[in-house]
Amino acid sequence: MFSSLPLDSFVCQTPHCPDFQQSGRQNITLRRFYGSDKRRLLRCRTCGTTFSETKGTPYWGSKLPPERIDSVVDHLTHGNCFSSTASLTRCHRTTVARIMRQAGVHLQQFHSQHARDLKVTSMQADERHSFVGEKAEQAWDFTVVDPKSKFVIEGQVGARTAELTKVLLIGARKRLATPNNLVLFTDGYLPYQSLFPELFGTSWQPPRQGKRGRFPQKAYRIPRSLAHVRVIKEYSGKRVVGVRTEIAAGTQKRVNQELQSLGYTTPNTSAVERQNATARRMNPHLTRKSLAFARLPFHRVTLAHLVQGVYNWCRTQRGLRQSLIEPIGRKKYLQQTPAMAIGLTSQCWTIRDLLSLPCGAPCRS
Ligand SMILES: [Zn+2]
Repeated sequence: MFSSLPLDSFVCQTPHCPDFQQSGRQNITLRRFYGSDKRRLLRCRTCGTTFSETKGTPYWGSKLPPERIDSVVDHLTHGNCFSSTASLTRCHRTTVARIMRQAGVHLQQFHSQHARDLKVTSMQADERHSFVGEKAEQAWDFTVVDPKSKFVIEGQVGARTAELTKVLLIGARKRLATPNNLVLFTDGYLPYQSLFPELFGTSWQPPRQGKRGRFPQKAYRIPRSLAHVRVIKEYSGKRVVGVRTEIAAGTQKRVNQELQSLGYTTPNTSAVERQNATARRMNPHLTRKSLAFARLPFHRVTLAHLVQGVYNWCRTQRGLRQSLIEPIGRKKYLQQTPAMAIGLTSQCWTIRDLLSLPCGAPCRS
């Protein structure tokens, strides 16, 4: 079998069909298997077209065996650069780059479709430095992480500006089930402080003084369920000499309540900083002091999305494991991926599962 996905995981891929990319319509049937790796030829009952199960995935139209595509993605997300991945998987370097682009775009769409209604009460945001082509062309990775499940809620790549911070926070906000019950932990980067009330608070119009003239600018109220904490590092040269925390919005009571539920004694951004190290290990473009930096901005962005998808759905973390009530043989723990810990799925996905689920298809629980 090519993939272990059940039939109701697939959706019609014909644009003029009324059920185009619509899930839960029971319109997909199996015609037959084809090819040496037993791919399924599917049929849509609504429009009558037949299509391959790989349509709309990175495997579609590729002449390479699917195992080779999986292996390329696996090597790339273990921190191998394009040329070493090429020699390990016996492909050409440009083939590696093509697979990376297709898989990266696929996982970007996959994330925007499936990472929704996240039950999160705190987020940590940070930026890590990198560049494209030369040191002057900076491309920062902005990341928002849930400290409980370590799930990367939103990632953006670009120049370190207030505009990109806004895109990041808007993107993270729309993925949350309850965006008005949240504590945000960030570093000392100022745009977070100015954007937090605007994006998460509720706006109101202050009354005008007297009867004439313009109304004053809109103001923002922070509900008691919201707070923003800045963790500011003080540097002497490149060395951190002190850390001070400051509540930029919200109350001390709300922050203390969240710290207690997280098991922290002081506010910190440790989860996102640990994720920075993991991302640097997984993404060859982010390795320090190496020649594997990105040459093209598009490659830089797509590989970042590919790494984020594989990190969230395919890689288990020791810190997330849970003790089994009854041990199965010698197995005492259930190993979990961030996507399992946040409740989006109940199993660790393989790269084949992740890449063979077409866009528009429902998430496998
Ligand atoms: Zn159809």
